[in-house]
Amino acid sequence: MEWKPEATKELEKVPAHVRNMAKMGIETSVEKKGRTTVTLDDVREAESQFRALMKKDEKKTRIAVVRCDIVSEVCPGVACFNAFNKRKVHFAEYGKDAEIIGFFTCGGCPGRRVFRLVDSLLKHDIDVIHLSSCMLMEKSYSKCPHLEDIKEMITRKGVKVVEGTHH
Ligand code: SF4
Repeated sequence: MEWKPEATKELEKVPAHVRNMAKMGIETSVEKKGRTTVTLDDVREAESQFRALMKKDEKKTRIAVVRCDIVSEVCPGVACFNAFNKRKVHFAEYGKDAEIIGFFTCGGCPGRRVFRLVDSLLKHDIDVIHLSSCMLMEKSYSKCPHLEDIKEMITRKGVKVVEGTHH
């Protein structure tokens, strides 16, 4: 495989310990395109693909919790955060790099604020919204009668819903 001088120069910027591997990857890709010469564009394309891959790996899982407006009068949310911080119950699946980026109340029946706040969270790359356990329980508080509508509203916007936080 022939290399254009500017392509070789660009390849020299790749750290020495991975340079051979990068070279082989680029040559394979050029070969698949039916060509026999590596150009500067080929090297740059490989670099940007590599950067995109790294960025994807770095992405943290972004979580928000929606909770009952009525219950929020008496609950500061400690149990929800405790479950998240210790990766317990409905947060057990998350790795260390997951983060809570939003914690909000529904705004009162029938969950009037959820629609707008999900839109706002989408601008912050939200991955998943948990419905707090207070919306689901039958014991201490009444189960939210609008649960299914709230769930559907979030799902329709393309955000995953998890039912529950600490129970
Ligand atoms: S809509 Fe459900 S979660 Fe919101 S205040 Fe009413 S009962 Fe609570």
